[in-house]
Amino acid sequence: MKHPISIAGGGLAGLSLGIALQSRGVPVTLYEASTYPRHRVCGEFISGVSDETLAALGIDSCLAGATSLQSVSWSDGAGKLAEMDAPGRGVSRWQLDDLLQRQFVAQGGTLHTNSRAVPAVGVVWAAGRPRKPSPWLGLKCHARRLALSHDLEMFTSPFGYVGLSKIEDGKVNICGLFKSGRTDGAKGTGLLIAVLRRCALNALADRLEDAELDESSFCGAAGFQTGTQDGPSFRIGDAAAMIPPFTGNGMSMAFESAECGLQPALDYASGRISWTEAGGAAAAGQSARFRRRMTTAGLLHRFLMNPTGLKLIGALARSGCLPFQSILHLVR
Ligand SMILES: Cc1cc2nc3c(=O)[nH]c(=O)nc-3n(C[C@H](O)[C@H](O)[C@H](O)COP(=O)(O)OP(=O)(O)OC[C@H]3O[C@@H](n4cnc5c(N)ncnc54)[C@H](O)[C@@H]3O)c2cc1C
Repeated sequence: MKHPISIAGGGLAGLSLGIALQSRGVPVTLYEASTYPRHRVCGEFISGVSDETLAALGIDSCLAGATSLQSVSWSDGAGKLAEMDAPGRGVSRWQLDDLLQRQFVAQGGTLHTNSRAVPAVGVVWAAGRPRKPSPWLGLKCHARRLALSHDLEMFTSPFGYVGLSKIEDGKVNICGLFKSGRTDGAKGTGLLIAVLRRCALNALADRLEDAELDESSFCGAAGFQTGTQDGPSFRIGDAAAMIPPFTGNGMSMAFESAECGLQPALDYASGRISWTEAGGAAAAGQSARFRRRMTTAGLLHRFLMNPTGLKLIGALARSGCLPFQSILHLVR
């Protein structure tokens, strides 16, 4: 190999690209700002990624133990709006990212944890959503003793949306994206419950108060915006484009963007193309693959976060007139 590759960010995009490059004989050094295992703000519901993509990246075994999910319900503060099928996998980021980093290291990759990279030639930028001023607050925690009516329960309100998804060991992940607002000093899982009450999702808040919430799994994220992102020339994952979370497709896009970056990174490593050309090829691949879902999800997000739009979508759903499967197809 003429050029070594480094990767900034050991989330799903960075680790899966690192594994794919290592298995093709390219030495990779990966820098991760935090350590493993660790919780991340994420719905932990993986939907849409194909078995072919997982096999091409060589990460299928890391997802083999994920919980298989099928049924989805959608409700608002007034009750159920719809039920549908949306096949997916449930697995915590605590478990999945740890399995991926172990595989990367087992394949000979060099991993530096608690270590931040800076943009440079030869550094693939997989550092997640860039920091930007925004009104969003993402919150998540795990629960036990929380029975679900469906594998994934989704709830919407004019102040945000939240999903409850089955993950490993009988646990449930609760994760939502909310508009920032007053929470009267509530902290940890108490903050999540306070935010649900502000969203008038009181029945759900009551259910969480009766469940066993794992305080150590609680985490929050603020200061990010969905959509296409700016940054260093060769970007993958959320660092390139962040799809609105309710689609449950960001993790799949992280894997798929690693697949889009694989051939350009191989071509750069072997000296066939420059770093700028490699970044351009990776960006073109992602744009072609994700354009439709990013546009559709952006529009839906605007509707869901607007009281009038939400009322309209809710009325259509209650009357059975919302074409869920077609919408699902557009965001996959
Ligand atoms: C509220 C919410 C709910 C979501 N729910 C879902 C869902 O149910 N299903 C789904 O598919 N997607 C969901 N997503 C999206 C999903 O979490 C992301 O799309 C996915 O994590 C992107 O992976 P990534 O590898 O690009 O970034 P990340 O997973 O964010 O990884 C980036 C890594 O880079 C590290 N890092 C940052 N800066 C540096 C640096 N300078 N040097 C080195 N390391 C650095 C960070 O520590 C981090 O580990 C959700 C997102 C949010 C906010």
